[in-house]
Amino acid sequence: MAETVPPIFGQNLPLKRKKVVSLVEAYDPYRISPLIEAVLKADKENWERNDIVRQDIWKSIWGEEIDSLSFPPSKAAHCPRQLGYKALGYSEAPLRLESIMTMGIGTGTHIWLLRKLGFLTPGHHEIKIFDFETPQTGKADFVFQNPITSQWQVADLKTVSQAAFNKLNRDKLPQFLRNTKNIVWPFENDLRQILLYMWILEKQGFDVGAGNIFYLNRNSGQTKEAIIPWDSQTKYQTKQYVEKLKKAREKIEKGELPEADPASEWTCQYYCDFSHHCDNGRDKAVKKKKKKRPPQWVLKQAKEERAEKEVKAEKLREAGTYQPEMPLIP
Ligand code: SF4
Repeated sequence: MAETVPPIFGQNLPLKRKKVVSLVEAYDPYRISPLIEAVLKADKENWERNDIVRQDIWKSIWGEEIDSLSFPPSKAAHCPRQLGYKALGYSEAPLRLESIMTMGIGTGTHIWLLRKLGFLTPGHHEIKIFDFETPQTGKADFVFQNPITSQWQVADLKTVSQAAFNKLNRDKLPQFLRNTKNIVWPFENDLRQILLYMWILEKQGFDVGAGNIFYLNRNSGQTKEAIIPWDSQTKYQTKQYVEKLKKAREKIEKGELPEADPASEWTCQYYCDFSHHCDNGRDKAVKKKKKKRPPQWVLKQAKEERAEKEVKAEKLREAGTYQPEMPLIP
C-alpha cells in the first residue's frame, strides 16, 4: 500500500519521494570510456567491411583480383588452421577493447619509429610483400640493403608486454650467435613471420642476408634485438612451413579446415580469434611438439655458409668496418 501523508482537507495524498540519485549515476554521463570503446569497435568493424570495398576498387581500377585466400605473413605465421577458420567464415571471438588498445599502442610506436628511420632508409619502409603461391600479402616494416654486406635485410618492430619481454632470452640462440651481446632468440610466431618475409624477398630476386626483430617493452621502454640468419638451416625450416601453408590452401579450397600447427601455446591463448571453435588446438599447443632436427646435409651446408660469412666478416674487420651503419642522406 502506498505511503500517505496526514490529510490536510480530509483527503489522504500519496507521499511523493524524491528519486535518490547515487553519486555513481550522477557522474555516469561524464564518463568517456564507453564512447571511446564504441568508437574504436565501430572503427575496427568498418575497417574490415571497407577492406572488401577496397578490393573491389582495386579490381575496377587496376583489373587485378586480390586472392581472397591471401593472408599477411603476420597471420600466416600463427597457425594454418586459424587461416582456415577465417577463410571459411567461422565466427570470430568478440572484439575486446584491450586488444584494440594494444594494437593502437603498437601502431602508434610503428609510425613514430618508421618516421625516424624512414629518413635513413628512404622508400624502404612499410614495403608491400606478396606471394601468389602460398598466398600472402603483407607489409614488412623495413627492407634495406646493408651497405657493408651489400645484402638485403628485413626488419620488424614488435611492441610487447612486460611478461613477454621477460620471456625473451638467449636459451635457443644458435651456437654461432652465442658470442654476441644483447641478442635474443625471437618468439616462434615472430620467427616464422620474418622467415616468410625473407623467403618471399629471395623469390623476388633479392640477395637476402638476415632478418632482425626489434622488441620494445611497452611498459618500460627497454629493448632487445633478435637476429635471424638466412642460411640453409632457416631456409629448410621455412620451406617446411611454406609446404604447410600450401596444403592449408588446398584444404580451404575444398572447404575443409587445415591441420593445426600453432607457433606456441601463446598463439592459442592470446592470438587466436577462433580458439572457441578449436577442440584439439589448445591441447596440441600445450603439449609442445618436440622439434625435428633438420637433416645432416642441411646442417653441414649451414656450417659452411657460416664459415664463409666469418671470412667475409674478418675481411671487413681488417678493413676497419665491422658494424653496419645506415647511410645518412646528405
Ligand atoms: S586454437 Fe590454436 S590450434 Fe586452434 S586454430 Fe587457434 S591457434 Fe590454431
